[in-house]
Amino acid sequence: MKPILNHSKELLKTLGEPQGVYSAFLRICEIPHGSGNTKQLANELIEFGKSLGYEPEKDKVGNVLIRKPAYGSKSKSNVICIEAHMDMVCTKESNSNFDFLSDPIQCVVEEERYLTANGTSLGADNGLGMAMALDVLANPDLVHGPLEFLFTIDEETTMEGARHIEHFLEAKYLINVDTEDLGYVYVGSAGSIQRTFEKPILREKNLKNETDFVEKKISIKGLKGGHSALEINKEGGNSNKIIAQLLFNEIKLQFKIVDFQGGKPGIQNIIPSFTKATIIIPKQYSEEFDQNINKNFENILQDYHKIENLKSIKFKVETEEYSKSNSKIKPLTLESTKNVLSLILAIPHGVRKNDLQSGTCSVKSSQCLSVCYFKNNNFMIEILGRSSSVIDLQLMDNIGESIAILSQSKYIKEIEGDFPPWFPQYENNLALDCIKQAHLELFNKEMNVETRHSGLEPSLLLQNYPQMVAISFGPEISGAHSINEKIDMQSVDATHRLFIKTLELLANY
Ligand SMILES: [Zn+2]
Repeated sequence: MKPILNHSKELLKTLGEPQGVYSAFLRICEIPHGSGNTKQLANELIEFGKSLGYEPEKDKVGNVLIRKPAYGSKSKSNVICIEAHMDMVCTKESNSNFDFLSDPIQCVVEEERYLTANGTSLGADNGLGMAMALDVLANPDLVHGPLEFLFTIDEETTMEGARHIEHFLEAKYLINVDTEDLGYVYVGSAGSIQRTFEKPILREKNLKNETDFVEKKISIKGLKGGHSALEINKEGGNSNKIIAQLLFNEIKLQFKIVDFQGGKPGIQNIIPSFTKATIIIPKQYSEEFDQNINKNFENILQDYHKIENLKSIKFKVETEEYSKSNSKIKPLTLESTKNVLSLILAIPHGVRKNDLQSGTCSVKSSQCLSVCYFKNNNFMIEILGRSSSVIDLQLMDNIGESIAILSQSKYIKEIEGDFPPWFPQYENNLALDCIKQAHLELFNKEMNVETRHSGLEPSLLLQNYPQMVAISFGPEISGAHSINEKIDMQSVDATHRLFIKTLELLANY
């Protein structure tokens, strides 16, 4: 890698060990590398590989591969692939004019323990994993077998790099360095499906006696929400479901939906925490509606006490005069209003099965009802199903299709985005055996072996290389993808030593 900038050099001195990892990481931070924008970083990796005397390769999707020969007599050992993704999620403070296409990430140390970024995401996911790999690549004194260093593109968006990798790997074992829990090694991850319901709706052509109606805006915000893989087992509220339930119970009051919006179209992996709906309702029912809905909301809140932070939840019902002239969007018919609400209620949300076989009480299957909105003359609902079982993914699809048939909706499958499960291999997994042994030797403590409910690149890589056996681990990072992303520096040295020891043990086979 090119030398790091002067201000980064000053920072580097204060970070302690492992200096090789931090210097590679600070250099990566200087190169813009958001998803879809990894060419410059890829070129720098290639130049870096060449400067070390290796022959880097780039495949047609843009993944970079650098092979490093074995240390001394270890050339007959198994080939190991060390894998990280080049792209990062670009998030910044809402008032920031930071430009992710040109500005270097500004790293700062917090509380003498955390490395974080000033006003943006840090990109430790997966820049720190890359940096650990680059340190091993550059260090001539480490004992290891033949190594392949794979740096993929666009993990955070389409997983295009892992999905369409060219057949250039020879490795028997894959070490993915893209998980972030110290003391944990992962051996499997869930697959996922993204689906959309499209329900045709009818709007009132000519609303009579418009002055007999009032308009109400109903909104809820401040639920915990969160990532659908990591938070779905916490059983927090789904703002789309809550608003739908509140409205459905007042359906006798003859209101009509004008708008219903929750979640961001295209972003299915977030549990919705903010939903707003607009309705019109006959004036004579206005008061009864308010009383009922507020009371029912209190009951719903009781159900979430201990799960949600009730103080941060804001529920509002605002009433205004209704006139067609100031509202361009026509209300739905009563029939369509019922159809929309019953569809939101009928589609499952939440954990569907726990993984009782693994004994770790992790989630096996879940579905997130993520996004609701109107598009042309349709009501759209986007969902994301996850499971470590292919048959459960199929069942979720079967249920989705059945609901679509019953509700006369279209069920849209974007199967290019489907993601297979990574099935755990506990037996004959030398990488797992060696990392566990290394952990025990270094820290005198057993490593936790688990599977993840989120998707990881080994799922796709193992589809392309069915003979390969994989593990995933990495240093402690919190708040990935957010402006609060932080590296716990105390974990970096431990993880780095674990990594090197694991490679050394693997070289014996
Ligand atoms: Zn990642």
